Amino acid sequence: TLPRLPIFEAIKKHDPNTTAVVHSLSGRRFTYGELVNDVAAAKDKLQKNTNGEKAEGARIAFLVENGYDYVVTLLSIFAAHAIAVPLCPTHPASELRYILDQSGALMLLSSEKFQDKADEVLKEGLESTPINYKQDKIMLGKTDDSVTLEEPTSTTGGMMLYTSGTTNRPKGVLLPQEVLTAQSRSLLHAWEYSAQDVLLHVLPLHHIHGTVNALLTPLFAGSTIEFQFPFNATAVWQRLAAPFLPSPDPSKRPITFLTVVPTIYTRLLSTHPTLSEDVQNAARTALHPSNMRLNISGSAALPTPVKAAWTELSNGNVLLERYGMTEVGMALSCGLDFADRIDGSVGWPLPSVEARLVDTDTGDVIAEGEEVDKETGRERQGEIQLRGPTIFKEYWRNEEATKKEFTADEDGKGRWFKTGDVAVRRTVDSAGKSSAPSQSWASGPAYFILGRKSADIFKTGGEKVSALEIEREILSLPEVAEVAVVGLPSEAWGQKVAAVVVLSEAGKTAGKGGKQWGALDMRRALKERLATYKIPQEMRVVESIKRNAMGKINKKMLVKEVWGDLEE
Ligand code: ATP
Ligand code: MG
Repeated sequence: TLPRLPIFEAIKKHDPNTTAVVHSLSGRRFTYGELVNDVAAAKDKLQKNTNGEKAEGARIAFLVENGYDYVVTLLSIFAAHAIAVPLCPTHPASELRYILDQSGALMLLSSEKFQDKADEVLKEGLESTPINYKQDKIMLGKTDDSVTLEEPTSTTGGMMLYTSGTTNRPKGVLLPQEVLTAQSRSLLHAWEYSAQDVLLHVLPLHHIHGTVNALLTPLFAGSTIEFQFPFNATAVWQRLAAPFLPSPDPSKRPITFLTVVPTIYTRLLSTHPTLSEDVQNAARTALHPSNMRLNISGSAALPTPVKAAWTELSNGNVLLERYGMTEVGMALSCGLDFADRIDGSVGWPLPSVEARLVDTDTGDVIAEGEEVDKETGRERQGEIQLRGPTIFKEYWRNEEATKKEFTADEDGKGRWFKTGDVAVRRTVDSAGKSSAPSQSWASGPAYFILGRKSADIFKTGGEKVSALEIEREILSLPEVAEVAVVGLPSEAWGQKVAAVVVLSEAGKTAGKGGKQWGALDMRRALKERLATYKIPQEMRVVESIKRNAMGKINKKMLVKEVWGDLEE
């Protein structure tokens, strides 16, 4: 039997004959009816294999490839009221051992494909060795799938995800079942997932973007999730194009929903011209707003030129940018109305998310209408703080971090989570248009992310700068393909602005006399766009900038790679 968690109530209500999951390459499909049965059976098996320990509340880690088996595994752990700990199969064994130890996993489940990896991980150096449990074929035949009455509480398990580790060692974020449910409900409301949606899933499944936005929420809605992993730009284009080719494959339904990270949109855009003409044309038809319902970008800042190029290619399908993190799911989002997708903005607090900005200079809450300092005329920058039912409650076995990252309960309505990200709120966008939203769940001025307090916001000659803001301007120059702006220690300035740049094809010959475009060219080009103190004093050209799977840059590491160890 399946417990009466909202996710199972939802899945059981969907038409059992509709497709829940498709494997893009093999074309295999699995219905919601099969999913309900297989989850119930897998849960029973799981509970029988815990060596007499209680599955309830236990951390159950798993190594399973993206696809139907992953979905069944995750949901069967939910059904056992355990805490699912999805692992990334491509992480080195030492990283996986860290997570097994840190989470205190009772069990490590692995699919056949990753059995060797599981064996390697369990071979050595663990504080306590989890049960090694190989999952055999999920198909276990019919079982009783009746629902018993239970509401999610903090004791009904949930999921533990580790942060991306961009700034530090990954932290375990405990997401109880009721928090996951609140996150999905918020997204269902704002992005209107439906049973008609077909979502192409190309993301890793151990981050919140791939699990909550691209898997759990569509399951709530009865959408179809088609897995195509690992991401391959040509394969994605071919799949998107398939229903619109001169002789279309009738088994391929049009994709209506794509949610990925900015670097994936960049790769798709650069691959499109390399496709055959038929595929190029069909792909454009696939992206047309009348076919593709929603294209979302997040996890890192979306460069405006990428957004513009996507709009152009798709005939007006403007990317929707949103902001979120492991600890809070999605927190801010632009709206479904195209007019509510303001360049450079991540929109407004999502349904049931309470957000505020706390002035990074004064520590005061920035009230609505006080976004500009009356004396200096400058925009006030604030740390984003969040509260509400979608926010996590603790870092796993890390009381110190939990204490540090939450405020006290000041008004009896709960603690605020300090995201460490800095933003401004604006009532008008850069084009002077009002940024008042038109969708019902949003209100007030729109948020614009300036970056991480720890890495992107720094002072140079007493002036505060935002790396993201400078990156945005540099990215709009045709000579630049990629950029990361950092602060370097400087005796004269405290910190000085520096840029690490990957040149575009044009940039390689755009300098004087056909030479490579250089620091002076950049400074000249930025003169009209940025205040002098924001223009990088130093620029280094590199072949590529290292990013993790979610398109994020570890700036501390980047500085070390480019400049070596610098004296602070
Ligand atoms: P760690 O906390 O381990 O250093 P991380 O913060 O990168 O890693 P995640 O929780 O995966 O781990 O990422 C959340 C962060 O991603 C946010 O705090 C924010 O800095 C960044 N981010 C997410 N969406 C956006 C966006 N639309 N624009 C800019 N930054 C974003
Ligand atoms: Mg973080």
